[in-house]
Amino acid sequence: MSAVETLLHRNQQFATTRFDRSLRMRPSMSSIVISCFDPRVDPAVVLGAEPGEIGVLRNLGGRVTPHTIQELVTLREIAQSTGSDIGPGWDIVVLQHTDCGTTRIKDRPDLLARTSASPRTSSTRNRSATRTSLSPMT
Ligand SMILES: [Zn+2]
Repeated sequence: MSAVETLLHRNQQFATTRFDRSLRMRPSMSSIVISCFDPRVDPAVVLGAEPGEIGVLRNLGGRVTPHTIQELVTLREIAQSTGSDIGPGWDIVVLQHTDCGTTRIKDRPDLLARTSASPRTSSTRNRSATRTSLSPMT
């Protein structure tokens, strides 16, 4: 069985046995996590989040890029279209990690500039979260 076939099978199992239709699109913890693509640091696993608790945006390096900001703006517009909002009371968690792959291309600023990912070369950044409050976007 190929990887795609395995994933499709698992998805079918999930959809029929474990998907909770009562979950809302709005994260119940009013939190958005921005994190790295790296499969070793799945934000739900690292933060112990249950389905529906957090929203996640992932990119290379877990960076807040212009694209990330645009996604946040669009998320707010989606929320407002449903009579909800994203703003005061919400948290944005930027989750970065040790041994990030972006550190391996630190001598390639051209690649990093394209992705807006700048590597942290220090191992002092651990699998910890930086918590900041989302300012109202008015
Ligand atoms: Zn990474």
